Amino acid sequence: MNGIRVGNLFGIPFYINPSWFLVFGLVTFLYGSDLSRFFNLSGPYPWILGMVTALLMFSSVLLHELGHSFVAIRQGIEVKSITLFIFGGLASLGEESKTPGDAFWVAIAGPLVSFMLFGMFTAIGIFANPPQPYGTIVGLLAYINLILGAFNLIPGLPLDGGNILKSIVWKITGKSYRGVAFASRFGQIFGWAGILLGANALFGFTESLFGVRLFGSTWTLLIGFFLLQNAGRTAQSAEIQEQMSGLTAEDAMYPNSPLASADLSLREFANNHVIGNEANWKKYLVTDADGKLIGQLEVDAMKTVPTSDWWDVSVRSLMEPIQSLPSVSANEPLIDVIARIEKEKSPALIVQQDDGRVIGLVERVSIMEMMQRRAAAEEESSQQEQLPEENASEFSSTPK
Ligand SMILES: [Zn+2]
Repeated sequence: MNGIRVGNLFGIPFYINPSWFLVFGLVTFLYGSDLSRFFNLSGPYPWILGMVTALLMFSSVLLHELGHSFVAIRQGIEVKSITLFIFGGLASLGEESKTPGDAFWVAIAGPLVSFMLFGMFTAIGIFANPPQPYGTIVGLLAYINLILGAFNLIPGLPLDGGNILKSIVWKITGKSYRGVAFASRFGQIFGWAGILLGANALFGFTESLFGVRLFGSTWTLLIGFFLLQNAGRTAQSAEIQEQMSGLTAEDAMYPNSPLASADLSLREFANNHVIGNEANWKKYLVTDADGKLIGQLEVDAMKTVPTSDWWDVSVRSLMEPIQSLPSVSANEPLIDVIARIEKEKSPALIVQQDDGRVIGLVERVSIMEMMQRRAAAEEESSQQEQLPEENASEFSSTPK
């Protein structure tokens, strides 16, 4: 989510999404008008109090997010940003916790902060007994924090309760994506529940049945849509992770990776690798007799040698020597390979056996192609996404 950068909170970039101003204005107006009515206040006074209440309310949301953030930071996780938006706050974490136990503590820290604030405002209300209208404002803030803690404990992603549920399923199954899949299904159920409650409040389907409307509002409807959309997205990414579980770098290599032995003559290289090769590689990785990487050969470089000499010139003599390229081990889990491609921004990784023998090349395109082959094998190929061409590396077989 993007927004206007407001500053830093304990070193964490703090943003406000434009949608927040709408709800801030609304909250200020509602509290201001309530205060002026209940306490017969006039002039700008109730509006200033309304605005202060709204600011304290959003400070409560911010403290909730800082609760998540501090626990994450203690686990060595980077907190990329905290953003306030129309539905509350969002702490964006750089990565997932390492264990289900750690994930549990990050998730519950926010609601715990809210419950502590509830306790604090309740205690102020009881022991300090502030004069009106301040007593009412303190009571309101206690109530807001109670709701904030309780609502977020609803056990469906993307809510905190969903993350707690995820950590429990992760603990039981040993797979974090199982937890995500499970908790996001619950998130979708709660999303639909919110939409139905909200629609019911607006259009009154149940009025004739029960005589009263169930609680709900336009707001419930909007939150329902928000939950449904986010839960659907996380469910999808968990599904992809599930499909990739058990697969390795070797599974995702190009079946016909651009590899050639240094000791071939150019004629043999052309006959065996280039001519009739549908992949149409522009560049080949060159290996020595032990299968170790020693260079790369641009197919175009062969044009500098007359065809009549091709039997006498070796791949070795025409290749560009290279020391090394980013590589992965053949049995590295595919999920980690994708993380490496993302993190190192290296479009292609060489796949090596434990003895250093190069067996292929893996990149986004080859991963996508492998997933497509698997999907086609399951006769579900219709839904697969095509990868945009710009993600392809210089090794890519896609003709430009
Ligand atoms: Zn939270």
